Amino acid sequence: MNVWKRSLMRSIGKTITGVALMAEAGQGAPLSDYPIQPVDHSQVRIGSGFWGQRIATNHQRTVWTCFDQCEKTGRIENFANAANQVKRKFKGIPYNDSDVFKVVEGAAYILAQHEDPKLDNYLDQLIDLIARAQEPDGYLYTAYTLKANHAIMGSKPWINEMTQEKGRDSHELYNTGHLYEAAVAHYRATGKRTLLDVAIRSADHVDRVFGPDRLKLPPGHQVIELALVKLFRATGERRYLDLSRFFLDARGNPEIRSKHTWADDVYFANHKPVVEQREAVGHAVRSTYMYAGMADIAAIMDDDAYREAVDALWESIVHRKMALTGGLGAVHKTESLGPDYVIPHDAYNETCAAIGLAYFAHRMFLLHGDAGYMDVLERILYNGSISGVSLEGDHFFYPNPLYTNGRDRFNHGKNSRQPWFSTSCCPVNIVRFVPSMPGYMYAVSKGALWANLFAQGEARVEVDGTRIALRQITDYPWKGDVALDIAPERPTRFALRVRIPGWARNEPVPGGLYRYVGDAPGDVVLKVNGEPVEFRMDRGYAVVDREWQRGDRVALSLPMEPRRVVARDEVAAARGQVAVEYGPLVYCAEAVDNAEMPIEAYHLDGDAELTAQFKPSLLNGAVKISAEVKGLKQPLTLVPYSLWNNRAEGAMTVWLPTEPKVASEHTFSMAARAMTSASRNEKHTAALNDGLQPRNSDDHDIPRFTWWDQKGGKAWVQYELLEPVEVGAAQVYWFDDRPRGGGCRVPASWRLLYRDGAAWREVEQSSGYGVEPDQFNRVEFRPIPVTQLRLEVQMQEGFSAGILEWKVE
Ligand SMILES: [Zn+2]
Repeated sequence: MNVWKRSLMRSIGKTITGVALMAEAGQGAPLSDYPIQPVDHSQVRIGSGFWGQRIATNHQRTVWTCFDQCEKTGRIENFANAANQVKRKFKGIPYNDSDVFKVVEGAAYILAQHEDPKLDNYLDQLIDLIARAQEPDGYLYTAYTLKANHAIMGSKPWINEMTQEKGRDSHELYNTGHLYEAAVAHYRATGKRTLLDVAIRSADHVDRVFGPDRLKLPPGHQVIELALVKLFRATGERRYLDLSRFFLDARGNPEIRSKHTWADDVYFANHKPVVEQREAVGHAVRSTYMYAGMADIAAIMDDDAYREAVDALWESIVHRKMALTGGLGAVHKTESLGPDYVIPHDAYNETCAAIGLAYFAHRMFLLHGDAGYMDVLERILYNGSISGVSLEGDHFFYPNPLYTNGRDRFNHGKNSRQPWFSTSCCPVNIVRFVPSMPGYMYAVSKGALWANLFAQGEARVEVDGTRIALRQITDYPWKGDVALDIAPERPTRFALRVRIPGWARNEPVPGGLYRYVGDAPGDVVLKVNGEPVEFRMDRGYAVVDREWQRGDRVALSLPMEPRRVVARDEVAAARGQVAVEYGPLVYCAEAVDNAEMPIEAYHLDGDAELTAQFKPSLLNGAVKISAEVKGLKQPLTLVPYSLWNNRAEGAMTVWLPTEPKVASEHTFSMAARAMTSASRNEKHTAALNDGLQPRNSDDHDIPRFTWWDQKGGKAWVQYELLEPVEVGAAQVYWFDDRPRGGGCRVPASWRLLYRDGAAWREVEQSSGYGVEPDQFNRVEFRPIPVTQLRLEVQMQEGFSAGILEWKVE
C-alpha cells in the first residue's frame, strides 16, 4: 500500500462527522454542526504547479528553518530546561512556546500527506520534551515553570491573562490554544496520542481553573476558543466545547472592563459581549481567530445570536476594512483593525491577520455555502498570506503593505524579508497555513460535492457514503482551464457544485468594496465529457446535478485576463487609482522592473493596454503583465504581489494613479520619499506623508499622527532622506479634536529645524508659523539643501497635539 493510500485509510477512520458528534458528545443540549463538511487536507494531494511548489518548499525548507530558529533562539531549550527542572533559565518572551507548537502543527500537516521518517522522529523527540515540561497538574507554560521574570507575567499562573495586574497580557491561554491545535494535528496525522494526551491533561486543568463559578477571565490573546473545538472534535469530550463557549461568553465581562480603558477593551474586543459585537475591531489577529471560534459555536450549538454576530462581523471586515490582498490591520501601533474604509496603502496587514481571516472565511463558507466566502479565502491564499514568505521559503514578512518607498524599514527594522523575529508568530503561521491549503479545496454536504479551489492534484471524497476519486488537471492560476475527473466507486447521482470565482463573475469581493472596471472579458464555459452543459448558478456555484460515473470529465474554462480594479470612493487612500489583477492574483509594480523614475511617479491610464505573458524564468515561472503607458520609454511591468521582494529590495506599489498629475503632486515631494521618525509614537508617523487630504482638523477617517499622551512641552517629528534635496516651504495640517472633546489642540507654537553637521538649526527668514485649524498652514523660508528636516512643536499647556499631513516643497 502506498503512503497516499495508507494516510487515506487512517484519516477516514478518524473523521468525525456531524452525526458522530451528536452521538459522542455526552451531556448538554443536542449538537448540530456545519451543514457543509470540509474534505480533510489529508485526503487531497497536490501535484505540480503553483501550490505544488509552495507545499514542497514548505516541507523541504520552511519547516526546518523554523525548527532551526526555535533551537537557536532558546525556544526549545525552554522546554528542555522546564523538563529537567533547571530554574531561572528562561530565554525570550513567554509566548514563545506557541511558536514551537505552531511548527509542530505545520509538520503534522506535512506528515499527513508525505512519509518523512526524519520529521516524524524529530517530532517524537520534541514532543517527549514538551510532555516532560508539563507540570503534574497539567499546567504548561515554560516561563512560569522556569520562574522567569517578564513584564507580561502576573504574580501567579493565569491571573494576568487579560492585563489584570500589570503590563501586557500573559498569553498563557494563547500558548495553550496552539498546543491543542498542534496536538490534534499530530494525532490525526500519525495516530500517536503522545501530544494529544498532553493537550488533554492541559485542557482538564484549564477546565478546573476557569468557568462560570471559578476564574471568570476571557483569554487575552484569542485562539484557544477554536482550538478547544478541535480538541472536542478529536476526543468527543463535551466539556471542551463548553469551555470554548465559556471563554467566548466571558468577553465583555463588566468586572474586567472596570480595570481597563476603553482603548484596551477595544484592543481585546472586550468592549461588549461577543454576541452584541457588530463592528470588527481590535487586534486583527486576535479578533479574526475569535470570529472563527464564534462561527464554530454558531454551527455546532446552532446558536442564532452567534450566527447574527458573525454575519455582521464578516460584513464589517469584507465590506469595509479589507485590503485588496486580503490583508487586515490599518493601525500599525496596535496591529489593529481601523475605522471603516481606512485602508492605507502602507497598512500593517500582518501575515497572521490574513491567515486568521482565512480561518474565519472557511468556516463562514461551511456555515452558509456561498462562494463569496471562498472568494475571500482564495484572495488571501494567493496574495496577502504567502507574500509573507520568500520563494526560497526561509525569509518572512511580518507586515504586508501594499506600498513601500523602498527605504522604510517596514518589516520590523528591514525593508526586506527577515529570517526570524523576536516575536515570530508570522513565520510559524505560514509553516502551518501552506500545507493546510489542500483542506480548503473540496467539501461535501447531503447530495452534493463542492469544488472550491483549483490546483493540479488528486483527492478522495465521500458523498452520502459513496467514495469518489477526483483528479484536477490545471495550470491555475496562470491559466483559466480546469479539467476535473470524477470517478465514483459506482454510478451515483449528486450535485457537483463548482465554484465560479468572483473574479470570473465580475465581482472581486462580496459587498462592493472593490470592483472591476468594465465588463467581464468573456463567458464561463462548462462541459461534461466534451459537451457544453446547461448549468444552474446558485450563490456563485455552477450546479450540475446528474448521475456521475467513472470516466466522467468536467471541463471548466474561466476567462482569465488582466483586469483593472478600483476601490469604493469612500476609500480615500485609493481615490484616482487602479490596481491590476489576473485571475485570483493581485499585481504590483516593483522598482526592479520599473527604473525609469521613482515608483510613485508611474501611472496607469485607462487607454494603456494590458498584456499578460507567462515567463518561465521569472520568479519560478509567473505571468508578467505589461502596459504601454504614454510617455514611458519602457512598458510598465507588473508581477504578482505575493512574489514581490524576491529579486531585490526596493519600492513597490499595488495601486497606481490613473493620471500622471495625481502622481507628481505627491511623489516628487521630499515628504513622500522621506523616512519618518518622532520623539514618541513613531509607529504612527506614516500618517504624516501618506498624501491623504484632511477634510478638517477633526478628520478621523484618515490616519493621523499624535504625540498623545504627552501633554504640554516640546516634541518633534522628522523627515530624513538618503540624499540632500533643496526645500523652501512646508505645509502642516494640524490635528485638533476639540469638536469631540478630545485632548489634542493645535500647538502653541512650532518651528522647522534642519540638520547641519552635528547641530540642528532653524530655517532662516521664515514667513511665519501658522496654527490655524482646518487648513494647511504654509511657511516659506530661505531654500536650503537638507537631508533631515525636523518639525518641533511647543504644545499648549495641558493638551497634546497632532498632525494629519505635513508637506514639504
Ligand atoms: Zn504574526
